[in-house]
Amino acid sequence: MRKRLVSILKEKGINDQKILDAIGKVPRHFFLDEAFLEAAYEDQAFQIGEGQTITQPYTVAYQTELLDISRGQKILEIGTGSGYQASILAELGAKIFTIERNRILRDRADKLLKEIGYFHVKTFFGDGYKGLPMYQPFDRIIVTAGSNEIPKELINQLNVGGKLVMPIGDKNIQKMACLIKTSETEFEINNSKSFKFVPLLPGKVN
Ligand code: SAH
Repeated sequence: MRKRLVSILKEKGINDQKILDAIGKVPRHFFLDEAFLEAAYEDQAFQIGEGQTITQPYTVAYQTELLDISRGQKILEIGTGSGYQASILAELGAKIFTIERNRILRDRADKLLKEIGYFHVKTFFGDGYKGLPMYQPFDRIIVTAGSNEIPKELINQLNVGGKLVMPIGDKNIQKMACLIKTSETEFEINNSKSFKFVPLLPGKVN
């Protein structure tokens, strides 16, 4: 089933072999309820409880491609959710710090990531708008929830030369934005395809 998913993503235009290998390796069905084994390898988003979703595999691959990761880079993810995106980033050899505002989801993802061997992914319960000042700067930042603007604090916590990938728009549709920090005070932004993400929300719950 995982191989079939990989070939679907290839057909949809994902070219990076390392990312396809990661998708082919990570057992996505562990990130869903047991009852949904087959659904886990459809190219679809899926409910994970708490009103949240595990991102569609194509979108995970697309955001990961834009991030353009090298081994050993420090990456901050906002919106841990199921932990699936974090596991794909970990497969690429990056050091992952991931923040989730919902304690139930954070605890579940933390437990699962450890159970399936991603011990080095560090999960945090907190408000992603604030980033992780203690662990900054990051080489890459990925936001897996949509908003109408890029939180300033996240740009501050990015290395010069670093990239931030995040869906920007209203609650119905967002364009994937890729920001490159060109100096301490300057950055460039390119927008690409449209997506629909759950919203980035302030504060913490549970
Ligand atoms: N990357 C996830 C996708 C989860 S959906 C996966 O692979 O499954 C987006 C997640 O962002 C939700 O779990 C939501 O609770 C979380 N979120 C929304 N606003 C947030 C914020 N300000 N800080 C941290 N997490 C946030």
